[in-house]
Amino acid sequence: KPVPSEHPEQPARPAVAPDEQVFQLSAQSLLDALEQGQLCYYYQPKVDALTHELIGFEALARWSHPALGMIQPDAFIPVAEQEGLVSQMTLRLFEHGVAWFSDFLGSLKNLKENGRYVGVTQNLTLSINISVESLADADMFDRLQELCEQFAVPTSQILFELTESCAIPDKGDPLQLLTRLRMKGFQLAIDDFGTGYSSMQQLVRLPYSELKIDKSFVQDITTNPESRAIVRSMTDLAHNLGLNLVAEGVEDEDSSAFLHNIGCDVLQGYLIARPMPGDGVMDWFHRQLK
Ligand code: C2E
Ligand code: CA
Ligand code: CA
Ligand code: CA
Repeated sequence: KPVPSEHPEQPARPAVAPDEQVFQLSAQSLLDALEQGQLCYYYQPKVDALTHELIGFEALARWSHPALGMIQPDAFIPVAEQEGLVSQMTLRLFEHGVAWFSDFLGSLKNLKENGRYVGVTQNLTLSINISVESLADADMFDRLQELCEQFAVPTSQILFELTESCAIPDKGDPLQLLTRLRMKGFQLAIDDFGTGYSSMQQLVRLPYSELKIDKSFVQDITTNPESRAIVRSMTDLAHNLGLNLVAEGVEDEDSSAFLHNIGCDVLQGYLIARPMPGDGVMDWFHRQLK
């Protein structure tokens, strides 16, 4: 079996022109992909900003298309959302994700029993992106809860990432469903913070436990003093509200050092690792321990 490289996500040359690719991503082809198991999850580690201990993973969808190669989520998630397929897709991905996560936790337990358990915080989490279209879908969340039970993964170790726009009141009352998810034990994160329209009131009202600064700010912090000021303010805001602060898109040591200095809790980005297939994660983890 080939060992995944350090950067398994180098952009491949597109098989067809981008316009053509979007054109071919019809609802039917997505349905076929779901049926034929062409969707897969990649996992990207999140680490403690100070110690670089593993905190958890974000699951990111990929479509391994037989003719077009690996298709990135920005190309097909919008199609799934428009066509009303996104809950079905999330469910399918979660089935794979929670099985993989359960296995990974089992392997860690073995390492621990052999006295080789280092570099991991207490309760690892698995983060899943949820589209606003799924937010009214109580059945889907019931099913996700059942899957957690089936794979013996506590719901408290699952984090749902919602973009800011999910919390906008004209989409119905998000508070009720989100509170129900919290009561089931799931954790909630607000994603892409700074790019949407959340008010302070929403931040306080909704039961989040984590705030993720959008990578557009993070990627500017070494060159742009304004981005540094924004990221600093967001960090203070998160902490004043009792939320964990995650910076995504961390690509270099200077950014990592700055983020650690201002008190950011968690780092995610190419500096730590690119998203990778589930069967490559243990190898990555072992390389970290060296
Ligand atoms: P996101 O939730 O903001 O995910 C973070 C994106 O940043 C991912 O792109 C990740 O690969 C990328 N990234 C991480 N570290 C770095 C870095 O250091 N530098 C740079 N340049 N990029 C970095 P990806 O995997 O292409 O996903 C794009 C978006 O697609 C995600 O943005 C998320 O909104 C959506 N998405 C992915 N999987 C799912 C899914 O299963 N369901 C839903 N609803 N949306 C998904
Ligand atoms: Ca996310
Ligand atoms: Ca994000
Ligand atoms: Ca995004």
